[in-house]
Amino acid sequence: MTRVYNFSAGPAALPLEVLEQLRDEMLDWHGAGMSVMEMSHRGATYTAIAQQAEADLRDLMDIPSDYAVLFLQGGATAQFSAIPLNLAGTRHAVADYVDTGTWSRKALDEAHRYCTVNIAASAAASHYTTVPAQASWQTTPGAAYLHYTPNETIHGVEFPFVPDVGDVPLVADLSSTILSRPIDVRRFGVIYAGAQKNIGPAGLVVVIVRRDLLGRARGDTPSTLNWESMAAAGSMLNTPATYSWYVAGLVFQWLKRQGGVEAMGRTNQAKAAKLYAAIDGSGFYRNPVEPSCRSWMNVPFTLPDKALDQRFLEGARRAGLAALAGHKSVGGMRASLYNAMPMAGVDALVEYMSEFQRLS
Ligand code: PMP
Repeated sequence: MTRVYNFSAGPAALPLEVLEQLRDEMLDWHGAGMSVMEMSHRGATYTAIAQQAEADLRDLMDIPSDYAVLFLQGGATAQFSAIPLNLAGTRHAVADYVDTGTWSRKALDEAHRYCTVNIAASAAASHYTTVPAQASWQTTPGAAYLHYTPNETIHGVEFPFVPDVGDVPLVADLSSTILSRPIDVRRFGVIYAGAQKNIGPAGLVVVIVRRDLLGRARGDTPSTLNWESMAAAGSMLNTPATYSWYVAGLVFQWLKRQGGVEAMGRTNQAKAAKLYAAIDGSGFYRNPVEPSCRSWMNVPFTLPDKALDQRFLEGARRAGLAALAGHKSVGGMRASLYNAMPMAGVDALVEYMSEFQRLS
């Protein structure tokens, strides 16, 4: 068996220990004589699995009891619609959005269908290489909510601050940064995150919503997108993504064994610092993002000539370094350094980059 260092932005690498456990339990889960995939979601065994996963996530993120934790389907993209449907009330309600790249744009494009979108600030003029300072934002008094994307997976841009929006509910798409370091959940009205980066298999989306925000949904909100209905049903209004939920739970337990989000934060910061230092010090590779807004999770970089890209990627693959091509909309390379990427993977990448430069 050969495992590569997988730098994919998502679906992304999972911890080897978790994959091994899943393999070992596949045919017979702890004497149940079946896989978790084959269990009824209503049975006592699966109920305990689901509750344990939620309890572990609450523990890891220090989620207070006045927040509901939902395990839903449809990925983060389904939540782009769920957010205005649950919070905006009517078509005329105004929601503020901060535009910092592809994912915040997708979120606000979807919201346009359901409410009035105010783009409070945009980094488009910088080609999405920075985060607009909060002092420059044009927010709406009494907005239904303010949405932002703390980490833009494609542009590799990360907010170096949590916005202060007073009483307006703060809604954050944490898809590519959840569990990568401690965050103060109490600052947020809603946190949501697609699972396929730091949590588990694609399709699952975790939603953490302050309970006082439940009950505001429009009457025509589909029940599978209705947070209040889903919270009342323990995320089991219909059959949930049982196996993905289970895998997420194993990842949470793995994270606890690693020392939780504090330990993860220290490692992730060191991993990113090492790669950015290699890029900046090379005089060959380049990252265009303003240093204070550089992502710890997704590190885009370019080579001095696009003609070198293919050779770089082929050599990387031979060196056991996979999925380094940048998103097609921005080109170049991108190394995603989620929790399951060990420092040894970053070391191997930095060594390969230096060798490639020497031979070019
Ligand atoms: N938000 C962010 C920040 C993302 O990176 C992604 C996926 N890469 C999404 C939303 C969309 O997630 P999904 O494909 O699971 O709907």
